[in-house]
Amino acid sequence: MSTDKINLMNLSPAELGEFFVSIGEKSFRSQQILRWVYQFGETDFDKMTNLRKDLRAKLKESCVITAPEIVSEQVASDGTTKWALDLGDGQLVETVLIPEEDRNTLCISTQVGCPVKCSFCRTGAQGFNRNLTVNEIIGQVFRASTRVGFSNNQEQKPISNVVMMGMGEPLLNLANVTKVCELLLSDYAFALSKRRVTVSTSGVAPVINKIAGKLDVALALSLHAPNDELRNILVPLNEKYPIAEVLDSVRNYLDKSNANCGRVTIEYVLLDHINDSIEQAEELVRLLRTIPCKVNLIPFNEHENSEYRKPSNSRIDRFYKVLFDAGFTVIKRTTRGDEISAACGQLAGQVKDKLAKQKINAKTC
Ligand code: SAH
Ligand code: SF4
Repeated sequence: MSTDKINLMNLSPAELGEFFVSIGEKSFRSQQILRWVYQFGETDFDKMTNLRKDLRAKLKESCVITAPEIVSEQVASDGTTKWALDLGDGQLVETVLIPEEDRNTLCISTQVGCPVKCSFCRTGAQGFNRNLTVNEIIGQVFRASTRVGFSNNQEQKPISNVVMMGMGEPLLNLANVTKVCELLLSDYAFALSKRRVTVSTSGVAPVINKIAGKLDVALALSLHAPNDELRNILVPLNEKYPIAEVLDSVRNYLDKSNANCGRVTIEYVLLDHINDSIEQAEELVRLLRTIPCKVNLIPFNEHENSEYRKPSNSRIDRFYKVLFDAGFTVIKRTTRGDEISAACGQLAGQVKDKLAKQKINAKTC
């Protein structure tokens, strides 16, 4: 790919409008391009028949529309599908499709590795490599759509929900994640409802405050512990932004949000004999009393980089019961796709020398 050309997939809807103005065109051209790319899956300017011929030629000269390509695909028995995308610099990034009867959820990554280094997370164990660019993030939704269908095709089942629960901490890649959200929400691009786009965060309090009232999407907070002492160990970022500060920022976010229906999702990974006792459940009840929320209990997905274990079902059930009896909306998350290491916290892009072996019929757009 020529590097001096502008990749239009790196631009937010507003930036695309500004780009057209900068080349002497009306800004509404951006809407046409967004539709072609994100609703029809078309990236070839020559096929964009509602653009003037001379404009198509001009665009071809100075722009491309391109996303990282799928280089491997693994499908679990429950239909969960994990794709690895080649970032072109020796890195891979993973994205996971979770098909359900009434929806197709895509779990996307925002960074290669993660600097937060939660002690139980496989991505964290990899360390931090770099932020993903806009095209590398929205490209995951684009590539998944080439497989499941774009919204123009009524007979297929396009991506209906996007959760930023793959590799990385989305709020530490804010500028790019904001543009990606704008593309997901734009009526001319993926046109998803703000309730169907979820940003999951380990609790970057100042950033949550910063985006309050500006970026309105569903917010999930990865809490995992009822007190700072334990959370400092599980989520090291807690030493910088302790629980009280994070919960304050979440309250502030909720006050200014329509996407959350007034409630944040609290994620709590259950680790055997670490954070799953009855006393800890009771402490969690006390902590969350003043936060409108629903609680997702995620049994730990085991992986080779961790000695933590998943609790027994009876321990999970009694933890659940304490929250339920206290009146919380609480959901036990079922694990999807763990046999292909596609479950929460199991993603880890591999280095490229493994890639040749995995290479399967990579589709280009
Ligand atoms: N960095 C963000 C989003 C990506 S992680 C965050 O931490 O919220 C998405 C979710 O997967 C988080 O709730 C995270 O704590 C959880 N997770 C990480 N490793 C896990 C594992 N091995 N088993 C179960 N959940 C895990
Ligand atoms: Fe990063 Fe989230 Fe994993 Fe923690 S759980 S290391 S924040 S990806």
